[in-house]
Amino acid sequence: MSNTEKPKSLKRSVRRLAQIVAHHKWLLLLVVVLAILSTVFAIVGPKLLGNMTTEVANALIAAFTTHTAININFTVIGQIALFLLVLYIISAAADIASGILMAKVAQKITLELRAKIVAKINTLPISYFDRHKFGDTLARITNDVDTILSNLSQAFTQIISSVVMLVGILIMMFTISWQLSLIVLATIPISTAFIGIVTKKSQKYFKATQDHNAEITAQAEEVYAGHNIVKAYHAEPVMTKKFEAENKKLRDNSFKSQFTSGLLFPIMNLIGNFGYVFVAVVGAGLAVDGKIAIGDIQAFIQYINQFNRPLAQLGQTIGLVQATFAASERVFDFLDEPDEPSDKATAELPKTILGNIECQNIVFQYESNDSPTIKNLSFKAKAGQKVAIVGPTGAGKTTLVNLLMRFYDLKSGKILLDGVNIADVKRSDVRAHFGMVLQQTWLIDDTLRENLRYGKPDATDAEIMAVAKMAGIKHLIDDLPHGLDTNVSEEHDILSAGEKQLLTIARAMLANAPMMILDEATSNVDTRTELAIARAMETLTKDRTAFIIAHRLSTIRTADLILVVNDGDIVEQGTHSELLKKKGFYFDLYNSQYSD
Ligand code: ADP
Repeated sequence: MSNTEKPKSLKRSVRRLAQIVAHHKWLLLLVVVLAILSTVFAIVGPKLLGNMTTEVANALIAAFTTHTAININFTVIGQIALFLLVLYIISAAADIASGILMAKVAQKITLELRAKIVAKINTLPISYFDRHKFGDTLARITNDVDTILSNLSQAFTQIISSVVMLVGILIMMFTISWQLSLIVLATIPISTAFIGIVTKKSQKYFKATQDHNAEITAQAEEVYAGHNIVKAYHAEPVMTKKFEAENKKLRDNSFKSQFTSGLLFPIMNLIGNFGYVFVAVVGAGLAVDGKIAIGDIQAFIQYINQFNRPLAQLGQTIGLVQATFAASERVFDFLDEPDEPSDKATAELPKTILGNIECQNIVFQYESNDSPTIKNLSFKAKAGQKVAIVGPTGAGKTTLVNLLMRFYDLKSGKILLDGVNIADVKRSDVRAHFGMVLQQTWLIDDTLRENLRYGKPDATDAEIMAVAKMAGIKHLIDDLPHGLDTNVSEEHDILSAGEKQLLTIARAMLANAPMMILDEATSNVDTRTELAIARAMETLTKDRTAFIIAHRLSTIRTADLILVVNDGDIVEQGTHSELLKKKGFYFDLYNSQYSD
């Protein structure tokens, strides 16, 4: 983000946060009223205590001057004490109540923010995930929202009570002595100037702290997810070094933000103490002249003490507010990411999809790249055909299948599904007609049942077991003590890689889409499982239009159509025997990669 954009973005985050906070204005109003109540009662305290002192002092002075027995009016003192007690209890109760309410409001706000973030994840275009680290997004959901939660509740009540306290104490001070009050007032500009300097400095560090925090989360997530790869490549030292560098930046910025904002309290105390000394000296003079009661000086000095606290507290709260704004800026930046462009949906797919696919001169370019990945690609696949996509790594095979499912939109050209341009229909409608089985299996942290019926949530156990049988995992499920109720996840090692693959095949079978996209696994499984997977895939692709990123000899031999992709274009197409006869690109590829 450039420097010129920064203030605009900050202003916008503040406004957006205020909008969300405003949803709870009635609860907040109650918080404000309670905070005011609590503070006002606390403010009146010293004045009443002062009255008590004056009462005692007057009695002592009277006894001293008239040489009679000390005659303190305990009824008056008792009344004041009782009144004070009640005030302090009400003040404490109001304080507690406002704290609880504020925590409630803050929780509601974070709930709302998290819900918005989660909803946002589902509407982002896939290209967003090409550009951003998963951990960074994760940090926005966790760290940043947490920062908003904890700071918001703290800052809000502190600001209210501090402001009420300041105003209230000032009023009380002026009722005691305007001369002394002016001395105190004179220290305020010095304090505020100081607050201004410090906060300007620390805001920068607060934002940097949140950013580095997110980067750390992203790195940790990356290493955690790929921990076996890190180990396999002995990359621990490299990753550790990278982490340490980032961690050091986090520490430096965090330290600077804490240090600069932490300077506020002691220095403002110092400024306050100067005022304190002045007041003590001038106050003593006034008391000697009889212009002020002793109890009033006591009250005044107590007020100065109280006066510095909210002032310094306000200064510190600014640190919290800054961190909150930095965090909300990151959250709102995420929420403001452009959504997947809305579907024009000018056409509809036929009720029953046959599965004819035609690509006409498609050109596609990733946002982050300078040149198109798919340059000018055309082919026709008839319903029920088995289409094998082959080509060297980086040729664009994965990109092509992503385009078929409309994960990305084309730069030019058309993809027709049963004659309808998929760019004209709703993305979700297009995707609903595809099943997908990738090399990278993906299990949700739930029971086997929910994993299997992921694409068809209302499937019955009988339906599930029927596809399990077809996919060759029925015996596996039967052997598990909890059957379909067994909990599985990507991290649990209950299932082998091959079994997970079979599970995802069964899942695709159950979803029963007319078109399939398969990415054949290249390794990872023993020969027997490999055979089982091949058989299951065969069953899965029967009577469906299937696009297979092919690695198996048997697949390309039996394919109805082979698309030979190289450098973003189809260089050859036909059946295995036709292509071999040509003795071209496919012939070479086949001889180097497939035949023994
Ligand atoms: P294949 O599946 O044939 O190995 P891909 O379709 O994955 O090839 O990649 C084709 C080209 O597009 C490669 O040069 C790759 O670096 C690039 N590419 C793939 N995915 C992305 C992406 N999300 N963003 C930018 N470039 C990408």
